[in-house]
Amino acid sequence: MNRTQTNIDKVSTPSAVTSANMPAAQSGKPQAAKKQRKKIRFKPNKGGMLALLALILIVAVIVTAIVFLTKGIIQWVNEAKETTTTASTQDPNKPNPLPWNNAYINEQYANTNIPVGDLVLVNFENKYSLADALNSKNSTNLYKYDGYGTHYVLPGSDTRVNNTILQNLIQMVTGLVDADPSGTFKTTTDKLYITGAYRDIALQTTLNGNNPQQYPELPEYTEHHTGLAVDLKIMSNSATVSLRESEYEWLEAHCAEYGFVFRYDASKSALTGIADEPYHLRYVGVPHATYMTEHDLCLEEYLELLRTSHRYDQTPLEITVGDQEYLVYYVAANTADGANFTSVPVPPSSEGTKTISGDNMNGFIVTVTKTAK
Ligand SMILES: [Zn+2]
Repeated sequence: MNRTQTNIDKVSTPSAVTSANMPAAQSGKPQAAKKQRKKIRFKPNKGGMLALLALILIVAVIVTAIVFLTKGIIQWVNEAKETTTTASTQDPNKPNPLPWNNAYINEQYANTNIPVGDLVLVNFENKYSLADALNSKNSTNLYKYDGYGTHYVLPGSDTRVNNTILQNLIQMVTGLVDADPSGTFKTTTDKLYITGAYRDIALQTTLNGNNPQQYPELPEYTEHHTGLAVDLKIMSNSATVSLRESEYEWLEAHCAEYGFVFRYDASKSALTGIADEPYHLRYVGVPHATYMTEHDLCLEEYLELLRTSHRYDQTPLEITVGDQEYLVYYVAANTADGANFTSVPVPPSSEGTKTISGDNMNGFIVTVTKTAK
């Protein structure tokens, strides 16, 4: 873009200078012009007149040539620019000239996966079609699972989370309880209390109907349906209390290391539709959680950033966590009539491993975990 801009500037400069100089040269020396006119009147010289006419003719021809040449070059530059833009926004099946994705190949990915993955957006505007889809195969009941009773307690004997988040959740909960920032987990009977995890439509309907203040999300519009979200509180002397300042701060400082973000902050309520829930954590994956936390982006903002600035035909978002580098880019779903699949460009295995997540709207996000070089 910059290069094109510079070219236009260069070619337009000479003509601008020429036309600006001409009136200045004529009007700058009126005395000299008068003298010359007098000379011609008193000493008519046919040869001189012809030479002058020839000179004027030559100058006119040169000026005309410059004008046409300049117009031609500008038109040529503009055409070249249009061609480049068209080629790069076309479907990813065509070879892409960008250097970063040289050997990428297309994978046919089913559009039914749009509501599947760590980065699905479920909010008051985005319904979740797989609300009742978690089962014993893709989820795990935390009741009597590792750390149950010692590191956390639950609201019931069937409290499920999506298998995707299981290990990271257990590690985060263990990390918090072992760090014991308030000093009460080790010295009293206080326990971390996972008050909310996966909810099906029936449970969300009951909760919302009974207490819409505490459970403002409507059935089919809560990310608890994904099994990727949990609510964390404290069970203290048989009462449910909020996380204490020190526990909240520990989680705020460390949750991204485990791939989680605090999903609902008061400052983002206009975007999320939720006032403030300093207990609701959502798993999005380590690189995404890290970037969102560092740049203070809620999921709505982060996905918007990927969709507008890091599409496959642009440049990927580069995220570094420790020594690990990631590339993240957005691919719009193929919405042509009758299309069931989208061509999703993915890296060759030598470049790294990829995961693909739907956004629960109209596209996919590819995350490449780069191979160390
Ligand atoms: Zn929640």
